[in-house]
Amino acid sequence: MQTHLADAFRDTPDGDTAERILRNCVHCGFCLATCPTYQILGDELDSPRGRIYLMKQVLEGATPTAKTQLHLDRCLTCRSCETTCPSGVEYGKLLDIGRHIVEETVGRSVSETATRSALKTGLGTPLLFNTALKFGQSVRGLMPAFLKTSIPPAEAAGDWPSPRHARRMLVLQGCVQPGLKPNINTATARVLDRIGISLITASEAGCCGALTHHLNDTEAGLAAARRNIDAWISHLDAGVEAIVMTASGCGVMVKDYGWLLRNDATYAEKAARVSTATKDISEILVAEREGLKALAARPAPKRIAYHPPCTLQHGQKLSGGVESLLTDAGFELTPVAEKHLCCGSAGTYSILQPKLADQLKARKLGHLQAGSPEMIATANIGCLAHLQSGSPIPVRHWVEILDSALSPS
Ligand code: SF4
Ligand code: SF4
Repeated sequence: MQTHLADAFRDTPDGDTAERILRNCVHCGFCLATCPTYQILGDELDSPRGRIYLMKQVLEGATPTAKTQLHLDRCLTCRSCETTCPSGVEYGKLLDIGRHIVEETVGRSVSETATRSALKTGLGTPLLFNTALKFGQSVRGLMPAFLKTSIPPAEAAGDWPSPRHARRMLVLQGCVQPGLKPNINTATARVLDRIGISLITASEAGCCGALTHHLNDTEAGLAAARRNIDAWISHLDAGVEAIVMTASGCGVMVKDYGWLLRNDATYAEKAARVSTATKDISEILVAEREGLKALAARPAPKRIAYHPPCTLQHGQKLSGGVESLLTDAGFELTPVAEKHLCCGSAGTYSILQPKLADQLKARKLGHLQAGSPEMIATANIGCLAHLQSGSPIPVRHWVEILDSALSPS
């Protein structure tokens, strides 16, 4: 695709990145077939190719409008289009740049700004989120059914084994996950402990920054990244083998720290090191597969439908690992159609674009339940909570399911 960037963007870091990406697009349209919003809305401007055109126009000097912003807002950032694209167009990076420019020019209404601020503060501050969650859980029994589905009942965390092994890994606890599903990180610690790895935390680390980053608050996202790098770097120096992610949405963000801070003289090198050390829990366990096989207690086969989050399959390009680990442990995976399509959770998308998110959830749950599973498994807290709010059967993180199937060490 030929480009003629406006003076304001030519020879700037973002302009150079955008131009390189735009030039890779050959307009073939293959990406339309796997774009969830195009599948639902059927409008070229709600497809990857259409959004790329919109961003190209803006970068070439056109003034963006509220309509431009709407089509970019409707994008789930699922990056399914990147997996499909034969030309390697890095759509996600282009969207970050395009959304930022459009946001600065078009702005937001007072109510939209207030909603976005509330989401950034409420979801990104564990103390606030957990206090509100605990209150909601305490009055859950009095709520009407439609409200109850959005507040999961309180759950026990289970034990976290004390560090006893020479091999150590760090885990990012996450902002909303420990409150909503405290057993996910403890199950991860128990599984790793059985194979000779102690899982530890760095108390100074906090939210990965994805939430604010995807709400176009770039500086807040980078501040979260710098805080986490400061919290982790001394542990890496001390020999911690990896930084483990149990939510694929956080994993895709932390793996991007190196890219996001590449122009920061103080943090670029440390950020690249943190990104390289960051692994999804499935990557860690696939590498330890033989040790895990020996521990599989072989439960009576349970039928599980697995939903691979977009942030795992498209964002981190990790496919097949979770499925192989669950199969090794004796579970039967039911067939699921349209595995590549987003469930509609997508960070804060389910709150900001509820209609589209509900349509995608219904479509996804239909496919997940088609094989009559007893349970749904996934790998990201956002997908888990979103799907559970509409599912009659339990939705759990796959590592909790694996933990329940292994014999004690
Ligand atoms: S990121 Fe997802 S929703 Fe957005 S254009 Fe690509 S495929 Fe469509
Ligand atoms: S598949 Fe890739 S090259 Fe083809 S239109 Fe989509 S983004 Fe452009």
